[in-house]
Amino acid sequence: MSETAKPVVLIVDDAPSNIQVLAACLKEHYQIKVATSGEDCLGFIAHGPKPDLILLDIEMPGMDGYQVCQRIQQDSQSSDIPVIFVTARDEDRNEEMGLQLGAVDYIAKPVKPAIVLARVNTHITLKKQRDMLREIALRDQLTGLYNRHYLLEAAAQKIAESRRHSSPVSLLIMDIDHFKQVNDQQGHLIGDSVLKHVATELADQCRREDIAARFGGEEFVMLLCQCDLNASKQKAEQLRLALEQLKPEGLLVTVSIGVTQLQNSDSNIDQLIERADQALYKAKEQGRNRVESF
Ligand code: GH3
Ligand code: MG
Ligand code: MG
Ligand code: MG
Repeated sequence: MSETAKPVVLIVDDAPSNIQVLAACLKEHYQIKVATSGEDCLGFIAHGPKPDLILLDIEMPGMDGYQVCQRIQQDSQSSDIPVIFVTARDEDRNEEMGLQLGAVDYIAKPVKPAIVLARVNTHITLKKQRDMLREIALRDQLTGLYNRHYLLEAAAQKIAESRRHSSPVSLLIMDIDHFKQVNDQQGHLIGDSVLKHVATELADQCRREDIAARFGGEEFVMLLCQCDLNASKQKAEQLRLALEQLKPEGLLVTVSIGVTQLQNSDSNIDQLIERADQALYKAKEQGRNRVESF
């Protein structure tokens, strides 16, 4: 959810008059998007901008709201979007069923504008707080890059995707050379600043589909999608050169990099990391400030 733009609320209802009533309650504070069937709603989620909240009618021709809600919950791309049911069925049994399906709330028709706005406000605020906590949990505090935890989680997904599409994935591990000397000679604060500069360079050079993460103290990992061993060696060499020229805090800082490509026999990211680590070890042994591959 972006900080400045109005959050997006998707209203799903087969009756235009209902959509109008709900939109009128919310349009001052929210960007309103509309779908007139369950199928439309799923299409919007798959292709449109991701809504921050969905107001979902239960009784619709074709897929009903319960089915739509289930599909939203099952897809990891959409399962974090809060869903509020809006319905004329105000029996407890239906409310219970809606909440069991993962809806966060339930509004009965005819709707009261102040109530609609208040409930939507509440759930948008909760969503923002959840997003923020998740963001904090997945980022490295010093550099703002993703952390090891996120890398391992996201890599599993990227690897599965690449297997589905038979496209190559590679991984590189980078370790700053003689970084202990930077700390010893310049102090820990300058050391921290060097790490931040290196991380910023990595983030700048990281394509959208790739992942750059701080893996440990002065070690960074990049997962490169649609990238075979040759391409990833080139990428690593580019990074090595860019960092050699960066001169953070006026210091010559170099890195050693180990590169490897995903093999059919790899069952998970651990084997990739292990091979990249062996290549990194070789790069260190051969004199540092270089790229080696496994
Ligand atoms: P090599 O070329 O073999 O990698 O040598 P090195 O000195 O880089 O390796 P070593 O493992 O001996 O030292 C890594 C140093 O990184 C030691 C540690 O204090 C420092 N370090 C790790 N995390 C941080 C951090 O967050 N901030 C700062 N300033 N230093 C850190
Ligand atoms: Mg309806
Ligand atoms: Mg190290
Ligand atoms: Mg080092």
